[in-house]
Amino acid sequence: MKQQILEMEQYAVDNNVPIIEKKSIAFIMKYIKEHDIRNILEIGSAIGYSAILMASSTENVQVTTIERDEVRYMECLKNVKKCGFEKKINVVFQDALELNLSEDLEYDLIFIDAAKSQDTRFFEKYKHFLSKNGTIITDNIKFHDLVGNTDKIESKNLKGMVRKIEEYIEFLKSNTEFDTKFYDIGDGLSVSVRKEEK
Ligand code: SAH
Ligand code: MG
Repeated sequence: MKQQILEMEQYAVDNNVPIIEKKSIAFIMKYIKEHDIRNILEIGSAIGYSAILMASSTENVQVTTIERDEVRYMECLKNVKKCGFEKKINVVFQDALELNLSEDLEYDLIFIDAAKSQDTRFFEKYKHFLSKNGTIITDNIKFHDLVGNTDKIESKNLKGMVRKIEEYIEFLKSNTEFDTKFYDIGDGLSVSVRKEEK
C-alpha cells in the first residue's frame, strides 16, 4: 500500500496530475476518523490518490468517486485494484454535472476536487445527497495563493477561474444552510457543515 502511494505520487509529478497535498489529505483522514464518516462521495478522482487514502482511513468507510477523463479513470481503476480496494471504492466514469445519482443515496462527506470554476455548481447539485449534518469539503480554495490576487494574473482564463473560486468563497460565507470554516492547509480547504434543522 505504501509503495502504491509513492508510485501514485511519482506518476502525478511525471504526468502533471494535480493530486491533493499531503497535509490536506492528512486533515481529511483525521476528519473522517473523528466524525465517524461512513459514506463518502468524491467529485474528481484523477488517478485515485485521495480516494484511496480516504478509503484507508477507517475500516468502515466506503467511497464513490467520479471522474470524467478516461485516461485518469482507467489509471484510477488500476490503482484501486493494486491497493485491493475494489470493495471500498466505486469509481464512476462520467461528468459529475451530468450524472444522475439514485435519489436514495446519502453521503456523510462530499469532497469537491474537480473543475475549480464549477465548485458552486457541484455544491448545489450534490448537497441534496448529504446525510443529516453532513459535511462538504472543497480543495484548492487558495489556488496557489492566486485567490484574492486576481490583479496579478495576466491570463484571461486563469483570471476567470480564480474569480469563480472567489465567488464560491462568498457563496459559502453567505450560505445560511451551512456553517463553513476555511483552513490555510495545503492549497486551502473549506469545510462546510450542514446546520441542525430547527
Ligand atoms: N482528488 C484527486 C485530484 C483530482 S484533480 C486527488 O487529490 O488525488 C481534478 C480531477 O477532476 C481531474 O482529473 C478532472 O478530470 C476531474 N474533473 C473535472 N471536472 C469534472 C467533472 N465535471 N466531472 C468529473 N470529473 C471532473
Ligand atoms: Mg485538489
